[in-house]
Amino acid sequence: MTTLITEGGPVAADATVTRIGGVPLAPPGTAWPSCADCGGPLQFLAQIVLDGSGAAVTGGPGQQDRVLALFACQNRPGVCQDWEARSGANLALILPALGLAPIPLPVPAGPDQEEDDLDDPDEFEDEDEEDEDEDEVLLLGATRAAEPQLLPDAPDFDSARAAWATRTGRPRNHVLGQLNGTPAWLQYDQTPNCVSCAEPMRLAVQLQEGPDPLTAMNFGSGRAYAFICSPCSDAAFLWQC
Ligand SMILES: [Zn+2]
Ligand SMILES: [Zn+2]
Repeated sequence: MTTLITEGGPVAADATVTRIGGVPLAPPGTAWPSCADCGGPLQFLAQIVLDGSGAAVTGGPGQQDRVLALFACQNRPGVCQDWEARSGANLALILPALGLAPIPLPVPAGPDQEEDDLDDPDEFEDEDEEDEDEDEVLLLGATRAAEPQLLPDAPDFDSARAAWATRTGRPRNHVLGQLNGTPAWLQYDQTPNCVSCAEPMRLAVQLQEGPDPLTAMNFGSGRAYAFICSPCSDAAFLWQC
């Protein structure tokens, strides 16, 4: 059995649903996370709703227990090691689902930001600057709900994706990833161990970049994987290409 996720249409930017993009939620007072490599703000990628067992929720409402929030550095692609689990250039946070509020956007840094703006020929009005700053920490485009698609007969992600594309007549790259299950590695098995109990962690979500280059996440044209250890509330994020 495989549970794919596909585009579920627009949803509120701060909705407590499994979604790509939008704004990150956290307990009030939480500061926007920053990259351990470059010190700049991380980009918010996705939020996955987890049930009481720590599995990604694949059914209806009423099972929300925690949320998994995923961030990665996009300030220096290829330099900050956001593909590496626990590198500090990405972040996977497990948070209680209740009492969360949007994290306020980070205050843009001075000189680097101004240089970027001068280099950009489209950037000639002051009022564009705020949008530009937001675009660096939030994904462009509409917030998308990630809708679960259960494929009971598919043993793994790639066969499930092929079966879904055949059934729906839609392109395979409209599949945004999978919930739970077995990671479909592009390289070798990099399942992380929990920092607390040292046991291998469980896949919560595998993410594809998405079909539209304008709104896509950046995994070097590869796939990202987020793992959790539910009893320890530990999470880790990495990508391969
Ligand atoms: Zn960085
Ligand atoms: Zn553990």
